[in-house]
Amino acid sequence: MSSTAPVPRTILLVEDNETIRQAFRILLEDSGYAVIEAASGEQALKSAGEELPNLILLDLGLPDLNGLEVTRQLRADERTRDIVVIALTGRALETDENACLEAGCTAYLSKPIDSAALLRKIGEFVGDGS
Ligand code: MN
Repeated sequence: MSSTAPVPRTILLVEDNETIRQAFRILLEDSGYAVIEAASGEQALKSAGEELPNLILLDLGLPDLNGLEVTRQLRADERTRDIVVIALTGRALETDENACLEAGCTAYLSKPIDSAALLRKIGEFVGDGS
């Protein structure tokens, strides 16, 4: 697999806070990634199965399903079980981080999210945008 593939890497951005979602979308698109947005857990699961993004950026605090539950369902579905999931945790609590990894998240970042750290973490898994 080459990081210079002509098709941009697609990121499913799951975040219920619209202000944060818009800020992340701009950051990711400016970095060359294609972005799909979801504002709820159900929407995230539907989009993940249909669009098969390269990576999912997942806010754990969602209005319907908890992000950990979303992750468990992604891992239980053969279409989505191998997609990289980076969880965005609300608090830097070790218990949350462990729960996150146990649920099947690939990695996590604690809010507030530093833009450079976010892009670096994404790059580790799927390479630079397009
Ligand atoms: Mn949230």
